Amino acid sequence: MTVIARKIRLIMKLRKCGITDTGVLAAIERVPREIFIPTQFHDQAYEDTALPIGRGQTISQPLVVASMTQELKLNDRHKVLEIGTGSGYQAAILAKLCRRVYSIERHRPLLATAEVRINELRIRNITCKAGDGMKGWIEQAPFDRIIVTAAAGDEPPPALLAQMSVGGIMVIPMGRDKASQFIYRITRTSEESYETERLMPVRFVPLLPNVARDEPDPVVDDSAQDFLSGGFAFQPA
Ligand code: SAH
Repeated sequence: MTVIARKIRLIMKLRKCGITDTGVLAAIERVPREIFIPTQFHDQAYEDTALPIGRGQTISQPLVVASMTQELKLNDRHKVLEIGTGSGYQAAILAKLCRRVYSIERHRPLLATAEVRINELRIRNITCKAGDGMKGWIEQAPFDRIIVTAAAGDEPPPALLAQMSVGGIMVIPMGRDKASQFIYRITRTSEESYETERLMPVRFVPLLPNVARDEPDPVVDDSAQDFLSGGFAFQPA
């Protein structure tokens, strides 16, 4: 099957699973996902599956990327904060649909690779930094939209709530363990009030504090092991 045929099959699946936003579908069609994954997985680039990207992390399943992006209700005036740059794929999708993306990653080597890819694709409206995304990006706040691509515990990080503009939306996976995680959409309805809606069940890698120490990649990291045994982050539960 050609890459184009695989891509069409993926788009059809996303439509069948409720992705109706034509902007989101067009972004998925236009951003080459293979650029963001290790070579040995290139044949799976347009499968609807999460894949390992190193450091025990994963690039999300396309359906999860598409759903979270659709729930953000983006337009070209929005300033968006992403927590968890990872491969850079989600940031590249966001960049097609909003004015500017700010993205924070705690693993410096992942961030460096993501930045190379984003430059290769000549995407100019993404700014990345290494940091603890739970603290947000105070110099750039407030944000119209926030997307967190790693799972928080029971509560959204307070700094992220504080850095949303009034009327702003945050899409974030939360849940104590992988078996009970859901995507939530939080809307800031006024200075003091937020509305929370529970959306789809998911399995994400955890949101962790601080910048990671840059030790070398383990020979077999956790996510690769998860992946091989079939229990894997980012699949709908
Ligand atoms: N959006 C990514 C998915 C990355 S997986 C993509 O499209 O590929 C989640 C990422 O969140 C991992 O790279 C992990 O290192 C990062 N992460 C976890 N906790 C974080 C934190 N507190 N601050 C910044 N990044 C974090």
